[in-house]
Amino acid sequence: SLFGLPDQAPHERVLLAADAETGLKAILAVHSTARGPAFGGCRFWTYDNELAALNDSLRLSQGMSLKNALADLPFGGGKAVIIKPAGHFDRPALFAAFGRAVQSLEGAYITAEDVGTTTADMLGMQAQTQFVSGIPRAGAFGGDPSPKTAWGVFVSIEAGVKLHLKRSSLEGVRVAIQGLGAVGWHLAEFLHKAGAKLVVTDVDAAKIARAQQLLGAQAVGIDEILSADVDVLAPCALGAALNSVSVPQIRAQLIAGAANNQLATAADGDALQQRGICYLPDYLVNAGGIISVAREYRNEGEESAVMAEVSRIGDRVAELLERVKLENSTPGRVADAWARAKLVKPA
Ligand code: NAD
Repeated sequence: SLFGLPDQAPHERVLLAADAETGLKAILAVHSTARGPAFGGCRFWTYDNELAALNDSLRLSQGMSLKNALADLPFGGGKAVIIKPAGHFDRPALFAAFGRAVQSLEGAYITAEDVGTTTADMLGMQAQTQFVSGIPRAGAFGGDPSPKTAWGVFVSIEAGVKLHLKRSSLEGVRVAIQGLGAVGWHLAEFLHKAGAKLVVTDVDAAKIARAQQLLGAQAVGIDEILSADVDVLAPCALGAALNSVSVPQIRAQLIAGAANNQLATAADGDALQQRGICYLPDYLVNAGGIISVAREYRNEGEESAVMAEVSRIGDRVAELLERVKLENSTPGRVADAWARAKLVKPA
């Protein structure tokens, strides 16, 4: 349905924004403002067709509602996608046009970085809209959310290793990372420092070479990472990595990564559980970045307070696994119900 996906509340608003001069074609999806203005990043990506872009924006914005609710942020869920123009384009002008589209929603949607967008894009948009975050500030935290996202994934892996793998530390734990981008690279560094053994891949050979050189990582092909012989799998590339083809091949016992929408369907989460594999829901573990840009936007807290807030994602993982035991369900289903119960205005 154009109004939302099965089993989810419908979207409040979806704006198609086009600008002939710059070639902008964007979809701004406001899923829910029940907790506050819809907050979520802007993806700049090449899509096979416009429906694929629409579908991505609807899935991602719903995920943001759940993510922001579970992180107890006073924001609803939204997301924007800009369809990358095929030929030459003027990037600052394109993002200025996007900024005007954000402004036209009068604060119902606040934007920030996502895949394909940078702090420079956000900074450039400030002239058009005040509803933008993820901009470096002199003497204060903020800017690129990726390191904080990676920290949230790291503390989630730590909690999962302790509670599901029953291992007291990350020393010697084998972790496969799919995608060494902004988040994946920081995660690799945190894990290496904690003594984990890394197995990595990326479509960019230079990133793999760097991980081999600096972090002693073992490299595998992009088709081999999901079935790698490891303890933990961290999907940090794009969505739907966990699907009916990959799930039967996964050898890791724990899955926790940054990528949004890792499960192709809820049934894939059930299949993981049946195989005894613990999947920590993406929107629970990857909330570090939105916590950072949300606190930056509200000009709240200091770096240490924000890091402490991100670290509490590890406590939420522990609570989730407790609830899963009590409810005899899967982490995905329990987290969904937990988050949906919070899709109301915070007290
Ligand atoms: P990024 O674009 O910097 O990194 C993605 C990396 O994955 C790139 O290095 C790319 O070459 C690689 N890649 C692409 N396809 C691949 C494949 N098939 N196999 C292996 N590697 C592949 O993006 P990012 O900011 O690191 O985000 C990664 C994921 O985390 C995305 O799904 C994003 O939505 C999600 N996420 C990011 C943040 C954040 O703070 N950046 C926050 C929450 C969620």
